[in-house]
Amino acid sequence: AAKKAGRGTWECYSQAMTDVATRHLLLSGAFREALTANDLEIVYQPKYDADSLALTGFEALSRWTSPDFGNVSPEEFIAIAENNGLIVELDYKVLGGVCAQLSRWRAARLLPPKIAVNVSGRTLQQADFYQRLRDILEHHDVSGESLELELTETALLPQPEKQAGVLDQIRALGLTISIDDFGTGYSSLSYLQRLPVATLKIDASFVRELSVSKDADAIAEAIIAMARALDMGIVAEGVESEQQARFLRERGPMSVQGFLYSKAVSAQAATDMLPGDARHTDRGEALLSSQS
Ligand code: C2E
Ligand code: MG
Ligand code: MG
Ligand code: MG
Repeated sequence: AAKKAGRGTWECYSQAMTDVATRHLLLSGAFREALTANDLEIVYQPKYDADSLALTGFEALSRWTSPDFGNVSPEEFIAIAENNGLIVELDYKVLGGVCAQLSRWRAARLLPPKIAVNVSGRTLQQADFYQRLRDILEHHDVSGESLELELTETALLPQPEKQAGVLDQIRALGLTISIDDFGTGYSSLSYLQRLPVATLKIDASFVRELSVSKDADAIAEAIIAMARALDMGIVAEGVESEQQARFLRERGPMSVQGFLYSKAVSAQAATDMLPGDARHTDRGEALLSSQS
């Protein structure tokens, strides 16, 4: 009987593996087509000052609605893109799309905060990453100062020393660099000293447990203290409750980001959040009187 149950279990497992592998394969092909057809959307999640709730930035995030698979979560399609290598093209598309949006906002005389773009380790490791980044900025006539790159700790592996050169070049273009999902990835902190990192993003897994788990409180406090000591900015991600917000506010200054404030919104909705040039009243429409 045991043998029979064992075999049954194996068959189930095997079937499940096949389904996963099939879906993966189909999604991989569909994603390639979506990327070529520009069927991905960029949405923008606001970041706010924990205390004043002033808008301090946006994070650009990719969204994919497939005609065959419906909404596919970034968790799933990013993993697939990392796997098949298309993450590199995706990251360049997002950088280009964000720069195009920045130049539209500028034409409309709006004053967007810094926009953060997630960049995979695979992209950062491309030999021509710096050159392509420069080309994208130049093409859209956008200053590097309007962009931040979010890199994970694992993107900086295996050799942070090797990345330091390209990060210094990127910094010289005016971009800032933040470490995403901080606290989940890398066991040594010494690299923080050697890399031009402006901001640490406290991972949502700690934020979720704030005021619930003493350990999470201690980790968050340690990250905040370390960022301060190293003269870095802090963003807490995944803030969902008022209790978490209070904990963070009391330990500010910092920026907060999470569903408590806003989920990622369309480019149009993000536009509506932007302050305008003081000489213009209506969004994008110049006051005739200011020209006389
Ligand atoms: P991330 O960069 O750490 O982005 C934060 C993720 O947390 C986003 O998920 C965001 O929608 C979600 N989030 C924000 N606030 C809350 C909250 O209060 N509660 C919860 N439960 N979630 C919250 P999303 O958009 O699904 O993206 C997942 C990950 O996929 C991102 O994590 C990022 O690593 C990656 N990703 C998304 N778009 C891109 C992209 O264009 N390029 C690259 N390389 N990676 C991307
Ligand atoms: Mg991010
Ligand atoms: Mg994150
Ligand atoms: Mg993440």
